[in-house]
Amino acid sequence: MRFILLFALLFITQGSTWAQGKKVEFSTFQLSETVYMLRGRGGNVAISAGEDGLYIIDDQVRPVTNELLQAIRKIDSGPIRFVINTHYHADHTGGNETIGSAGALIIAHDNIYKRMSTEQVSIFTQSTTPPYAKAALPIITFNDQMSLYLNGEAATAYHVAHGHTDGDIIIHFPASNVIHMGDMYFNTLYPYIDLDAGGSIQGMVQAADLALSLADDSTRIIPGHGPLAITEDLRAYRDLLVKATANVQALIDDGQNLQQVIAAKPTAEWDETLGKTWITPPQFVTFIFNSLQGIHNYTPATNNSGDPTAAD
Ligand SMILES: [Zn+2]
Repeated sequence: MRFILLFALLFITQGSTWAQGKKVEFSTFQLSETVYMLRGRGGNVAISAGEDGLYIIDDQVRPVTNELLQAIRKIDSGPIRFVINTHYHADHTGGNETIGSAGALIIAHDNIYKRMSTEQVSIFTQSTTPPYAKAALPIITFNDQMSLYLNGEAATAYHVAHGHTDGDIIIHFPASNVIHMGDMYFNTLYPYIDLDAGGSIQGMVQAADLALSLADDSTRIIPGHGPLAITEDLRAYRDLLVKATANVQALIDDGQNLQQVIAAKPTAEWDETLGKTWITPPQFVTFIFNSLQGIHNYTPATNNSGDPTAAD
């Protein structure tokens, strides 16, 4: 049975504070009879609630775990049975330890277990992340594909190699006509591609193509960050990735190095709308350039201010 309503807005915003004193607003959107999207602090969360209970996809940053759980309880007060992580980043796995300790089984791609159980070094963020506590680690891992059959429908996770990291999945709820893209889709901002953790622009395009192959015109798309999207938005994002990649490749074919490519502004047509929120145009160009050159880390040509002349 298909749920017809578009974008039913269920619960709006509850104010709360978190450890750093910043106000966090949680909003929950009902997308079908059983699937919800929740926005708060960190990656967007999907929630499945129904006759078989509750499971969630991603669990935000650690300091808001209690507020996240309160928001989830407004949908269903029962225990969370499973957590599926779309990838290992701390803004998608921050609730794992608390929710795992409370009895939820954590499910994730093999590479998420590998990265969460060992120290991780990021050139891009200039940070080192220690291994997570045991309770935060996945208990069940998979390689290519995995399905859960709960609440009257399948949810199928598909791994895309070398997308946002080397352990990302997208999750498709065919009956609800919803796809959670994790961080292989940033809606209304340039994507972060974690080259230091096996990401690449080529994988980001593959992930968008895969999602589009599963979608129809009325599919609701949950991005890792940014507002809820529809298929048309995802199609435009996919086209931007492809066109930006072609622009960078043309400059590489011309013999230009990374700094010259950045200075040529190959993403100029989107920079005003997508390059102001977080990832800057020079950073986005560096992700693409390094991916095309087979450089498997973020070797910056600029500092993180995004000033393309800074490294000249
Ligand atoms: Zn991420």
